[in-house]
Amino acid sequence: MPTIAPKKLAAGSGGSVVVETCQVCDSPDLEPVMFIGYLPPVNTMPLIGSRPTEQPAYPARVLRCRKCQLVQLGLIVDPAILFPPTYPYTSGTTKILRDNFAEMYREVQSLYPLTSDDLAVDIGSNDGTLLSNFQNGGHRVYGIEPTNAGKLAQARGITTDISFFNRAAARRAVAAKGRAKIVTATNVFAHIEDVHEIVESVLELLDENGIFLTESHYFLSLIETLQYDTIYHEHLRYYTLSSLKYLLEMHGLEIIHAHRIPTHGGSIRVFAARKGKYPVRNTVVPILAEEAREITESKLQEFARNVVNSKVALYALLKDIKARGERVYAIGAPSRASTFVNYVGLDDGILDCVLEIKGSCKIGKYMPGTLIPVLEESKLYADQPAYALLLSWHIADELIANLKKRGFKGRFIVPLPEPRITSP
Ligand SMILES: [Zn+2]
Repeated sequence: MPTIAPKKLAAGSGGSVVVETCQVCDSPDLEPVMFIGYLPPVNTMPLIGSRPTEQPAYPARVLRCRKCQLVQLGLIVDPAILFPPTYPYTSGTTKILRDNFAEMYREVQSLYPLTSDDLAVDIGSNDGTLLSNFQNGGHRVYGIEPTNAGKLAQARGITTDISFFNRAAARRAVAAKGRAKIVTATNVFAHIEDVHEIVESVLELLDENGIFLTESHYFLSLIETLQYDTIYHEHLRYYTLSSLKYLLEMHGLEIIHAHRIPTHGGSIRVFAARKGKYPVRNTVVPILAEEAREITESKLQEFARNVVNSKVALYALLKDIKARGERVYAIGAPSRASTFVNYVGLDDGILDCVLEIKGSCKIGKYMPGTLIPVLEESKLYADQPAYALLLSWHIADELIANLKKRGFKGRFIVPLPEPRITSP
């Protein structure tokens, strides 16, 4: 374990902890990238009709470490506040994720093939969608998942430890099944406070010749397409390959292969192993070179300016619509919509409502920090407002096709990277 000064943890504090030094390398040389404002916790959604009460809000300032390049939030909030017991788990069964995991399995089998005896362990295994590919391929599988989504995986015959991932969970896995030939962690690496503890726990779990495969939302995609709405306190860190390399090397791991993938608006899939166990593929160096070119101080300042400009441009567009007295309904209330609505300053005078698909646990509540009601999607077809604003704009094409097919006749507003209205 590398020497890292012990930090005061937000977990268990009941509040928050200011990031004074880099979460990975401990350097105090943190450069401010931008400030998104004070954001309410994403899952604070009071019931429609309840009177507004006092509510916390946490500053979302984005910092970049000049030493290891890690981009991170300047404040860590106690997970007990961000993930209350009522936190709605979602099962990972969107088509894009299912396709991604199937493709991941094919890539693993083509580059680092597993035999039928080999064990695959997934951290944050959700409803077992990822592991089902390994299970169907005839391999042994084991999931670790903190939410009750793990029960869905158990029902599919996937052994799942319903708990948070840490050293104790890693040891339970080894005791139950032995060491893993592959450990996967998709979209969980940004969420856990003590990142060194995660990597050390992975090492306990991983066979000497094992592969550690992570997928993380990719910071270069974030700045390329202005996805500032993915910045909120559940996401403590925003990775590049350079910053992942620095982190993994601190623990004796080496990146052997990497490439970009389309999930979550742009992610990066990274294969690592103990140093010297596998040749480093020629995919790694070009990505590091691109990051050195594209993620500079001046490019980050340009990103921050573009974020502000996109907000002002959206206001200009909404001003004309509201002047005509037309209605705007928003579509979708994913976590990122909370940052978007709060940063742009949208309220119930601008958006009539946000619509979610029937069955969503967000229906009947207000969007965080606002009095915009979340209602059922059927209202869109019954009311036919002039405009539908897409809050899951990173999958705009797919959404527009679906909403048209279900009978919406109005126009669509795609708010980012540059606000645009579709022709009718
Ligand atoms: Zn650092």
